[in-house]
Amino acid sequence: MKTCYFDYNATAPLRPEAKAAWLSATEDLWLNPSSPYRAAARVHAHLAEARSVVAGLFAVAAERVVFNSGATEANNAIFAHWAATLPANTRIGVSPTEHPSVLAAAQHFFGERVIWLALDGNGAVDVAALQHVLSERQLAAVSVMAANNETGILNDWAAIATACRAQGVPYHCDASQWIGKLPLDRLQTCDFLTGAAHKFGGPKGVGLCLLPAENSGFMSLTGGAQEFGHRAGTEDVAGILAMVAALQAVERGSAQGRDAFLVELGQVLPAVEVIGLAAPRLCNTALLIMPEFASVRWIRALEKRGFLVSAGSACSTGKQGPSPVLAAMGVEAGAMQRALRVSSGWATSVADWLALAAAMAECRSMLSSEADGSTSTVISI
Ligand code: PLP
Repeated sequence: MKTCYFDYNATAPLRPEAKAAWLSATEDLWLNPSSPYRAAARVHAHLAEARSVVAGLFAVAAERVVFNSGATEANNAIFAHWAATLPANTRIGVSPTEHPSVLAAAQHFFGERVIWLALDGNGAVDVAALQHVLSERQLAAVSVMAANNETGILNDWAAIATACRAQGVPYHCDASQWIGKLPLDRLQTCDFLTGAAHKFGGPKGVGLCLLPAENSGFMSLTGGAQEFGHRAGTEDVAGILAMVAALQAVERGSAQGRDAFLVELGQVLPAVEVIGLAAPRLCNTALLIMPEFASVRWIRALEKRGFLVSAGSACSTGKQGPSPVLAAMGVEAGAMQRALRVSSGWATSVADWLALAAAMAECRSMLSSEADGSTSTVISI
């Protein structure tokens, strides 16, 4: 049975270009790039070249680019940096729809000094409300993601970057779900930017972070001079070269498959609700509220037919909790239990999307004729 993978927002399969770059670097560029001999200088040169490619893609100076282990590390490090450098007792503004690596880091380092930013009717951060809070000088820093991992809803990060800059407030944008799906232009206007290679077809455990143009004193790990002193530790050169190969291979995504799926789904399961239908959102994502049956039952039933999809909520082993994202958007608890997230990527075809709609209709018939089943699973977000 062919597996149809529809969970790209959790992780993407390795692109062939990334795999080739990783294999070649693992074979040929395994020396420590900081070692003193000429042979290692060659590895260092490849690393510098990778950095300048990334700097070119984001139109920033190479010194702004820090390679790391991914978005969770960078998100945590940025809040730790703010906690260490912003004046005591200052407050920070955070979107309540952020990824848990931002929500938890904000709460860990700032506790009750986090101001949760208001959302508009579409589930995006309300820019006018944020401008108002900024103008009252209540915030010392702001963190708002570019695109939401559960709903695909886009924030107007460019307007947020401008508003923050006007008040001299540092702005962090978690662009993990944007990079690889939408153009990178203007992302350099965010002071701090985080991204993860495995979301766009690079390897897992590798990521990048853009730092402010001015010297911020940012240090995520200490104990070595790598990454201009911002992040100590021997660089994963093969992983970084594979990430850059994936980034260079990215082409502009199309909503054709997702939208054809939604039309078809409307025919075969008309009671399905689509979250954020009216909002600007990622062209690869659909967050569905199924009319009946818990998410886990759909996930299991679809997997038996070869389709891998996710729930819309934050989950951990054996326990499915409510999604803070959907809760912040005012989705009621019962509906959250029936959320399904489907997200496509570089290897998905329009035919795959249409096959998914047909499989969902089959699963509904099957689930309707079956007694209630199990309720726990492991779901990545
Ligand atoms: N931020 C967002 C928006 C994500 O979707 C993810 C992925 O799970 C992360 C951060 C964490 O990324 P990583 O897996 O690189 O730690």
